[in-house]
Amino acid sequence: MRALLLFDLDGTLVQSNGAGTIAIDRTFSELFGITGAAHRVDWRGKPDTRIFREILEACGLEPTPDRLAAARQSYLHHLKQLVGDHPGSLPPGIPAVLEAAAVDPRFRLALGTGNLEEGCRAKLAVHDLNRFFPVGGFAEDGEDRRELIRAAWIRSARYYWHQDSPRAGGEALRFFDRVIVIGDTPLDIDAAAANGFYSLAVATGNHTLAQLVACRPTLAFPDLADVHSVLQAVAALPAHPWADPTRAQPLPAPADPATGLGLSSPTPPATPSAGHTHSQ
Ligand SMILES: [Mg+2]
Repeated sequence: MRALLLFDLDGTLVQSNGAGTIAIDRTFSELFGITGAAHRVDWRGKPDTRIFREILEACGLEPTPDRLAAARQSYLHHLKQLVGDHPGSLPPGIPAVLEAAAVDPRFRLALGTGNLEEGCRAKLAVHDLNRFFPVGGFAEDGEDRRELIRAAWIRSARYYWHQDSPRAGGEALRFFDRVIVIGDTPLDIDAAAANGFYSLAVATGNHTLAQLVACRPTLAFPDLADVHSVLQAVAALPAHPWADPTRAQPLPAPADPATGLGLSSPTPPATPSAGHTHSQ
């Protein structure tokens, strides 16, 4: 049985590189004459596309498709120039936990981040972390983190099922019997629960362990430094009910059925697993 580990980027894989904030400030200053743009909204845990829209709205500008496209293009341009000088640091346990999980047949790794994919790849490249993540969900998959986490699961299930299909057989979307969203904000925990997935909260971003535990993640750790304990705790989680085809449980459904994201018949959301919180 396999578990999919969906890693958030900022605050989880990389700490406070600052490049994203500077790139946002430069973008909105150059395009719209807005100063200090990154501090005008609470961007924690939100997809880039939503941050751009909220900044425009906060400044009384309509977030038209043209403005959003210009912001996206300018942001990526600045980010790629800045990230080499502002690489940020790796939280405790990164990359050790990735190296351990990548060679453990119980796990597969993917991204579940609100970054635009091109920006995400640029941030990871300076730390040589892209090698762990062949696939993922990104800001392009939706302004709602729940949707991009769902997209990350669907894309990862299909990717890894295809890689393994000669042996695995069966149904791509039941290739994983557990999905664990690993992130540093309440929105990561919410996105996991809304999809019927597990969450593992890490206090390596801008929220304390107590603030994260208050949001009832399945698991919570101060950081990922204790690689053995982290992977053992994840491995001990029971399979999601929807992963067992013999129980006829519906697969996780989109928060907004209109998006569909590849499932032909949307079904009611699975009940989030209460799980247990492991704090240490
Ligand atoms: Mg984060």
